Amino acid sequence: MAISRRNFIKLSVAASAAAAAGISFPERAEAAAGAEVDKWVKGACRFCGTGCGVYVGVKDGKAVAIKGNPDAKTNFGFLCVKGFLAYKCMYHPDRLKYPMIRQSDGNFKRASWDDALDHVAAKFKELRYKYGKDAVAYYGSGQCTTEESYTFNKLWKGGFQSNMVEGNPRLCMASAVGGYISTFGSDEPIGSYSDIEKSKCLFIVGSNMSECHPIIFRRVMRHKMKNPDVKVIVCEPRRTNTAKIADLWLPVDPGTDLAVFHSMAHVIIKKGIHDPEFIKNYARITAGKENFDFDKYKELVDQFDPKTAEKLSRCPAEDIEKAAEWFATSGASMSLWTMGLNQRMRGVWANNLVHNLHIITGNLCRSGADSFSLTGQPNACGGVRETGSLAHLLPGTRPVASEAVRTEVEEAWGIPKGTINPKPGFHTMKMFDNLGGEDDSSKPIKAMLTSTTNPAQSLPNLDKYIPGMRDSFLVVLDMFPTRTTQLADVILPAAFLYEKGGVYGCSERRSQLTEKAVEPVGEAKPDVWIAAQIAKRMGLSELIPWNMDDSMAANKMAWTDYITVTKDTEHTLWGAQFDILKKSKEGLQWPCPYPGHPGTERRYVRGLDPVFEMPGHKEHIPSDASIYFYADKKGDGKSNIWLRPYKGPGEVPDQQYPFYLTTGRVIEQWHTGTMTMRIPEIARAHPNAYIELHPEDASKLGISSGDMVEVESRRGKNTLPARITKGTLPGVLFVPWHDQVMERMINFVCNDVVDPGSKEPEFKIAAVKIKRVSGPKDVADKFYISDVNSTYA
Ligand code: SF4
Repeated sequence: MAISRRNFIKLSVAASAAAAAGISFPERAEAAAGAEVDKWVKGACRFCGTGCGVYVGVKDGKAVAIKGNPDAKTNFGFLCVKGFLAYKCMYHPDRLKYPMIRQSDGNFKRASWDDALDHVAAKFKELRYKYGKDAVAYYGSGQCTTEESYTFNKLWKGGFQSNMVEGNPRLCMASAVGGYISTFGSDEPIGSYSDIEKSKCLFIVGSNMSECHPIIFRRVMRHKMKNPDVKVIVCEPRRTNTAKIADLWLPVDPGTDLAVFHSMAHVIIKKGIHDPEFIKNYARITAGKENFDFDKYKELVDQFDPKTAEKLSRCPAEDIEKAAEWFATSGASMSLWTMGLNQRMRGVWANNLVHNLHIITGNLCRSGADSFSLTGQPNACGGVRETGSLAHLLPGTRPVASEAVRTEVEEAWGIPKGTINPKPGFHTMKMFDNLGGEDDSSKPIKAMLTSTTNPAQSLPNLDKYIPGMRDSFLVVLDMFPTRTTQLADVILPAAFLYEKGGVYGCSERRSQLTEKAVEPVGEAKPDVWIAAQIAKRMGLSELIPWNMDDSMAANKMAWTDYITVTKDTEHTLWGAQFDILKKSKEGLQWPCPYPGHPGTERRYVRGLDPVFEMPGHKEHIPSDASIYFYADKKGDGKSNIWLRPYKGPGEVPDQQYPFYLTTGRVIEQWHTGTMTMRIPEIARAHPNAYIELHPEDASKLGISSGDMVEVESRRGKNTLPARITKGTLPGVLFVPWHDQVMERMINFVCNDVVDPGSKEPEFKIAAVKIKRVSGPKDVADKFYISDVNSTYA
């Protein structure tokens, strides 16, 4: 079944219309798959943080179809094209089928699992002995299962006594985490997706959800179609398909929306449409250590009258006024955002300022009123954030620097007090910056194990980090050859989600269990097994005893270990025991403190949030408090309205680099295209990257549609075909980042400056120059790395 991009979009539109008419999309998916199956196996979608429930169709021991799970509360049976075609990449001939070790001639040679694992364990032991405990790092992914992230995290922090543990959610969600923790004291959203259908005003900011979270977008569209009075406001530099359904598009230059948020607050307070009662009862004004009165906040936002904000952002003043009024007076406003807010040098501040708007208008903790961050990856929340698989955390998103937390975790893990290193490890960019060969004394990290991610394509300012990956001892777990396997010393073939099973936790705090549906291709193995086998070879079997071949049995042990360690925290999933999740068609939302608990749709509200009744927590919550932000460190249950000054992005256009560049995903492709480029329909629909520019800029530079354009920043350059569109602002360029062809890998151009709080890099904003280099060229060359012995060039 060939699908062109045009047909793809038509399909999306048809599906939306079908949704509005109450027609179920899964029947279409089943029909499209045209498969009679032996059984349908329950699971979650492998792509994106929406967490759509699926059934995998199995025939003769192979996955042959996917349909939506109509009982899933995330998607009600609907799927996007990536979701229902996911199984097609599983049997691509490029699948890595057996372990491989790089030889002295530079080529890989097939190895047995025993030989490969012995080699990895021996090298890790040797490097840790020679260079110290932190010489070996782990870099995981928001696409690993919770059991996988937890197992590697436990192995490193409890076994290797090293906090050199990071995951790619640092590159996408760390600013959202920082925003939630600094405003409310605890990570992850208060409400749920179900707030969308109850909201009267949807404020979508820094998110092209029509392409990146299409099933959430379907819920937004359907709600709007059924309730035309519901206002949709979209704030972002491109007039995306998301912005096209909006009642109001707030166009902004990249990184300048802080001025718009402050200005909305200014308008709201000036018009007296804020909520003084909510502010008085549930918030404090803070700049960190010091608290202030409301006048101080008013003084700050008064500097951002709409005309001033327009000058800073390019967003029309009258539109800021209108947006502020709609937001404050709708009765129930919900914000939704993704990477446009997070992948910034001021990502945490941008998150804080959106939360500020909710607090000052009382749009929190009730139906349809929520400040909701959409996660990019399927298990960034459940797998990395909640299991604490980052350099500064322990399970339950608790700080490793806290002695009380370390003691609690050490006791639960049965390891001696003082085993866990109190010093946080390096954040992702610092970790890669400190990775190098044994002959480089300036680089303390000598080895890295990466799983389910492709940093040699996905890090910003790539040129700076490639030598470290090339020179160190690099072990890569993946399904396919990638830009990162090109730099590896050992490649370990990884099983696909439906070949191993496991738990994913999506954006709305919901954990869903995927059953193993089929056997892995070739000799591919689950990550949990690989981690446990490395542990065994390093004398750590007692710590990670789940080293059996039966992946669901190993998953059950790892999951049970994890929910035991986090049992008494506000993140508790104790009620989501493995066998309960197995039976559940919709998963469970934490806090879920005991078996039989239905899960929590809304936090911080008495009667809805079970933490109010949990021992260890209830003693600190006043009995008359109906709303209480119990995780806030100051102990009075209040949220924080942050006084954040306006700061622009790390780079702004100047004479030499006069354009803003922003980057992102497209509906068909997932991240670096490792899997989606191997789904023929998807690869045909959206093969290569391109550069979008406004007709005014194209005309000034003599660029026509399809011409080859060189885009260059202070760090690197790409050459891409031009797409001329009024969908972007003059002076703003856009390039998607899935393309594996070296001259179109836009992360060579992106900026690696990080947010000082979250350490998340500023992928979304770089100053660049462009020029036409030739007329149209056929770019239909090879789109993915298929030869493990090919070089990174
Ligand atoms: S919206 Fe996301 S989770 Fe749902 S089917 Fe599409 S890619 Fe999968």
